[in-house]
Amino acid sequence: MFNNRNGAKNDHRMNGYRKPARYSALDLIRHGLSGSDWPRAWHAHDLRRSYDVVIVGGGVHGLATAYYLAKEYGITNVAVLEKGYIGSGGSGRNTAIIRSNYLTPEGVRFYDRSVKLYETLSEDLNFNAMFAQRGHLTLAHSDSSLRTMHWRAEVNKLEGVDSEVIGPDDIKRLVPYMDTSENVRYPMLGALYHPPGGIIRHDAVVWGYARGVDAYGAHIHQNTEVLGIDVAGGRVRGVRTERGDIATRVVVNCTAGWSTLISDMAGVRMPISTFPLQAAVTEPVRPFLDPVIVSGTLHVYVSQTDRGELVFGASVDPFTSYSMRGSLEFVEELAGHVLELMPSLAKMRVLRQWAGLCDMTPDFAPIMGTTPVAGFLIDVGWGTYGFKAGPVAGETIAEIIATGKTPELIATFDLARFAEGRLVGEKGAAAVGH
Ligand SMILES: Cc1cc2nc3c(=O)[nH]c(=O)nc-3n(C[C@H](O)[C@H](O)[C@H](O)COP(=O)(O)OP(=O)(O)OC[C@H]3O[C@@H](n4cnc5c(N)ncnc54)[C@H](O)[C@@H]3O)c2cc1C
Repeated sequence: MFNNRNGAKNDHRMNGYRKPARYSALDLIRHGLSGSDWPRAWHAHDLRRSYDVVIVGGGVHGLATAYYLAKEYGITNVAVLEKGYIGSGGSGRNTAIIRSNYLTPEGVRFYDRSVKLYETLSEDLNFNAMFAQRGHLTLAHSDSSLRTMHWRAEVNKLEGVDSEVIGPDDIKRLVPYMDTSENVRYPMLGALYHPPGGIIRHDAVVWGYARGVDAYGAHIHQNTEVLGIDVAGGRVRGVRTERGDIATRVVVNCTAGWSTLISDMAGVRMPISTFPLQAAVTEPVRPFLDPVIVSGTLHVYVSQTDRGELVFGASVDPFTSYSMRGSLEFVEELAGHVLELMPSLAKMRVLRQWAGLCDMTPDFAPIMGTTPVAGFLIDVGWGTYGFKAGPVAGETIAEIIATGKTPELIATFDLARFAEGRLVGEKGAAAVGH
């Protein structure tokens, strides 16, 4: 990589930085009335024949990596290659839940850093990402899941993360519309309550990072599919794209649902299977639901957006596929489960449903860092929960590229753990939770 081994952050971080445009209220009115073209927040470029770093995937992970490379280390001769438009993968399809109440100490520390970065992201990017920390409730409907909630709460507290187990009365106080009675199929015995959790505007996160990347002078290339990766003598030499070849010594795989296809191009095999994950949204109604609600037993979660729509999700479809189509079975099952939690929603209408791809690992934790191919890095295995990790993943992968050292925070998520039997068992907190 760049072998800046002392880890010192770059003194020239403002080099080439073009401050993204700021608008006065008058500018907004003028543009609105005149219909004149808005200045572009990021620009199209010719493909250079070589870049210091090529990032494959224009989702939150790829863009955040490019952003922190430029901002923290002054590395700007960087290309983000995206086969469609930025955010067209999981980053524009997710249900935007942010939280850090995981099960393992490694997971909690990692996601907590991301929550902290999200808390200051709007200010950092000068772009409103609308992070609403309205709290996150994971319901327990059985003794064993209540035990897991206590376990998570204790690990969270030890790591300084705000989480506690609350009873049905407190659940009712937080969500008056919830059916907390005992005469239901799956009574609520309690819940893990995580006040810092919440939701964000996922498109704004993608656009904000893209705007920052562009302002630092790195290139975002949309409609640029990577077709191959050149490896010789055990190290990366370049990538082949539909717009021509690029010489580079560093390639980062940030392609989530397509991650195994890209890693195959470099000859790196990964223990990942790809599953579709569906979601749905209702018509908007007046705000009544503050926290995010998750029920692992009922395989459902729900939140209400600032616009008033209810956003529903579930666990992945039970088969591997690259299909991104919604199904009737999904909405039927979802509706049944949602009504068990909140029967008064029966009259609400579902407006749309969609799906995205999730690259699932055996232990429900990501795979990050270097690979046996020198210069080929991976930031993958994000399953159904990787949007919240975008900032911290970008920050740590940028550090590896700039310094050649793997930060302690992600050392445990290395690829070798599967061969060496060091799994990071995160299933208890990541299977449906998102
Ligand atoms: C329905 C749904 C709900 C979810 N809910 C949540 C949630 O609430 N919270 C949460 O934290 N996570 C959630 N997730 C997971 C989250 O969306 C992903 O983990 C995250 O977006 C991954 O981001 P990324 O940047 O790594 O990948 P992506 O955003 O998927 O970006 C990868 C990009 O790579 C591009 N690409 C692929 N192949 C190539 C190629 N050959 N050449 C060039 N470009 C290529 C794709 O077009 C894509 O844009 C959800 C996912 C889904 C599908």
